Amino acid sequence: MTGENGNMNRVLDRRALVTGGSGGIGYDVARALAEEGADVAVQWHRNQVEADKIVELISKSGRKGLAVQADLQDPKSVRSMRDALHEKFGKIDVLINCAGINRDSLFARMTDEQWEEVIQVNLSGVYHCCKAFVEEISASGHGRIINISSLVGQMGNIGQVNYAASKSGMIGFTKALARELARDKATVNVVAPGFIDTPMVQKIPDKVKQKILSQIPMGRFGTPREVAMSVVYLASPEADYVTGAVLNLNGGMYL
Ligand code: NAD
Repeated sequence: MTGENGNMNRVLDRRALVTGGSGGIGYDVARALAEEGADVAVQWHRNQVEADKIVELISKSGRKGLAVQADLQDPKSVRSMRDALHEKFGKIDVLINCAGINRDSLFARMTDEQWEEVIQVNLSGVYHCCKAFVEEISASGHGRIINISSLVGQMGNIGQVNYAASKSGMIGFTKALARELARDKATVNVVAPGFIDTPMVQKIPDKVKQKILSQIPMGRFGTPREVAMSVVYLASPEADYVTGAVLNLNGGMYL
C-alpha cells in the first residue's frame, strides 16, 4: 500500500543503523529508510550538527531517529555505540556500513599512515561494526548487512591503491559472511557505487571530472538518492533471497 507521502513502507518497522549517516550518501540512505518506514540511528564521527539535522528529518517522517557518536577505527568506541543504541533505541536488524574515507596518493608517495588509516576506517570499521551487531542481526530472523563499497574496488584507480584495497576487501568479506549468515535468513550484500554527485566527487578538478564523464556510458554521475533506493531494496523483504550480491550503480562504467 502506498503511504501518505507516496512511499511504500518497503522497510516498515525495521530498525537500522547507518554508519557515516551524517555524510553525503549516508544522509540520503538514512532519510530514504525512514521515509520507507524504518526507525533509523545515524552514526557520526566529527559532525554532530549534520547528524542532528538528519535525525530531525527522520522524526518529521514519523519514525524514531537517534544520532550516535563513534570512531569506527576503535572497537571499544563501536561497542560503546552499540550499548548506547541498546539503551536509547533498541536492537537493530539492519546495518548499513556507509562510513568511508579516501587518502589519495600515487603509490610511490603513499605514506604508511595513508595506507593504515584507509584500511582501518573502510575495512576494519566494517569488521568492528559487523562483529558488534552480528548477534542481534542474526537473531532477528530477517537481518540485513549492506556494505557500501565502490567501483574503484572492482576496477582500481590511479592514486587509490589503499582505497581500492579496502573496497575490494569489503566484497570478499561480504561474500564470506553471507555464506555464514544464510542459515539465519540474514543477508549480506554490497552496493558498489561509481561516481556519485557528492562532495567527494565535487572536489575533483573540472578537467578530470570531464574525463571521467566521458568514460561513463550514461554520461552523468549518479545521485545519492539512487544509491539510497538500492539500499532500501536490499533492506526490504523483496530482497529476502538476495545474498552475497554486488549491486553495481555506475551508469555502465564497469560491467
Ligand atoms: P562522506 O565523506 O560524505 O561521508 C563519509 C562518512 O564517513 C562521514 O559521515 C564521516 O563522518 C564518516 N567517517 C569518516 N571517518 C570515520 C571514522 N573514523 N569513524 C566513523 N566515521 C567516520 O562520503 P560519501 O561520498 O557520502 O561516501 C559514503 C560511502 O560511499 C563511503 O564509504 C565511500 O567510500 C562510498 N562511495 C562514495 C562514492 C562517491 O562518489 N561519493 C562512490 C563510491 C563509493
